[in-house]
Order: sequence, then structure tokens, then C-alpha cells
Amino acid sequence: MSRHRQIDRDLHIDQNLHIDRNRHMDHNRRAKSNPAGRLIVLTDLDDTLFHSERKREPQSTDAVAAVDADGRPLSYQSAAYQTWWSALAGMAHAIVPVTGRTSYAVADRVKVLAMTADSLSIVSHGALVLQGRDIHPLWREHLGTAPDAARKTLEAAARTIDDRFEAGACPRIHCRLLVDLDVPVYLSLKSRDTSPIDPPTLSMLSDVAREFDLKLHANQRNAALRPAYACKAAAAAFVLDRLLERTTADAVIGLGDSLSDLPFLGLGHFALTPTEGQIWHVLQESAQ
Ligand SMILES: [Mg+2]
Repeated sequence: MSRHRQIDRDLHIDQNLHIDRNRHMDHNRRAKSNPAGRLIVLTDLDDTLFHSERKREPQSTDAVAAVDADGRPLSYQSAAYQTWWSALAGMAHAIVPVTGRTSYAVADRVKVLAMTADSLSIVSHGALVLQGRDIHPLWREHLGTAPDAARKTLEAAARTIDDRFEAGACPRIHCRLLVDLDVPVYLSLKSRDTSPIDPPTLSMLSDVAREFDLKLHANQRNAALRPAYACKAAAAAFVLDRLLERTTADAVIGLGDSLSDLPFLGLGHFALTPTEGQIWHVLQESAQ
């Protein structure tokens, strides 16, 4: 046998052995896992699976994870996050995004999710549970007439906020009612410039939330006033119990970076949080 043919033959045997070894390992991995239970992943998106350019300088090995309304790259997934995410996604029976993003900001702009017409997702801070791009019929039934009442409440709250801004509270904040798939989902309040929302404005928003029975969620530059049905944890419980009909053998992992993610993370058996996020920083401070 010529030397070249011998090398080809050895290479072929080695490749086959390698494939067989991998098959064996895959088999072992399956054998060790419990086939009766499913791995269900509930995951926040921004700052959990990827970061915006504004928060972290992109590297050459980063992948574009999300784009803006004009299709321009806006958020990136680092090489390490890509490794982690592809491993987890490969093991999961179901991946359910749980996000403040609207339906279109997930379906049209996020590039790291392999969503199908049957995929479940929780969007607009939990106001909507989707199947594919549409509101799940059971969630629509669950909402009932609540969105009609909430629209009036949110519009009245927006007028009150505008009046108080005009009275001098904080003209740099922009307030608008977000409607997703014809459902009013929350009042969005954003700083018009890079300045954070100041304490008097936060205090005013807190008063309005109390007056109109809305929930206030705020971080540095933006805030949201939400009706009761816009709740990530309630929507996630609905998905787990009613739509996925989870059993005691199913394992649920939640991923999130913000303190506001904690209620839905608590529905699972394990909570995973990036060491660059708000939850981790608070944990570190309390551990000192
Ligand atoms: Mg987040």
C-alpha cells in the first residue's frame, strides 16, 4: 500500500472512530438524562443573551444578535455567550423568550432565536403570550375585556403625566402609549436625552401609578407604567401550566439579568444570571 493510501486509510479509520465515539457519547448523554422530563428554558433577552453596542464595545468575534428598526446592527452576542447559548439551545425542549420587547421587536429584530410558527413567547413585559407572531387564543381568552378598560386607564394616566410635566416636573421625558397587536401594553416613558430620570420625576410617576392602579417599572433612562395583566411572572406561569402543561419531571431554567426578572426566575428550578448584570451586582454587594 502506498504511503498516501495508508495515510488516507488511517485518517478514514480515525474519522470513523471519532464519529463512533461521538455517537457513543451522545448515547450516554441521552441515557443519563431523564427522557421523561423536558428541559424548559424561560429567558430574558436584552443584557441576558446579548448586549447593545451602547453598553459594551463589540469585538470582531461577536455575532449580531439584534438590529434596530432600520435593520442596522444594534446588539451583539460575544463568542463566549454564543458557546453558552448554542449548548443550552441544543439541550432545551422549549425556549420561551420573556421580554419587555414588543412582538415585532422580537420577531423582526432579534437574530439569535430560532422561532417557528408554533414557538411560544412572552412579550411586552408579559402583556402578551404569543404563538408564532399571533396572540395565543387561550391568552386572548384569559385577557377578556381587561385591555379595553386598561386603554382608558392608560390614556388618562398619560394625560395626567403630560399635565404634570407641563407644570414643570420634567419636560425631558417623553411619554407614549404602546399598543402591541391591538392590545394596549404599557405607557413608555423615556428620557429625551442621555440624562437619567431624576428623583422628583420618579416620585411623580410613582404617585400616578398609585392613583391609576398601575405598576411602575423604572431604570436609569426609561420607565414603564403597566396594567395588571402586563406581568412577566404571571404570563410565564400561564405558559408553564396551561400551554406546556409541565409535569414534575420537567426541569425549568430561568435566565435573566434584572431584579425585575426575579419573579419569573422564581418559577423555575434554577435561575441563571450573567455576572455583568444587575442581579449579580446586587448579590455581590449584599455578600460583602
Ligand atoms: Mg434584561
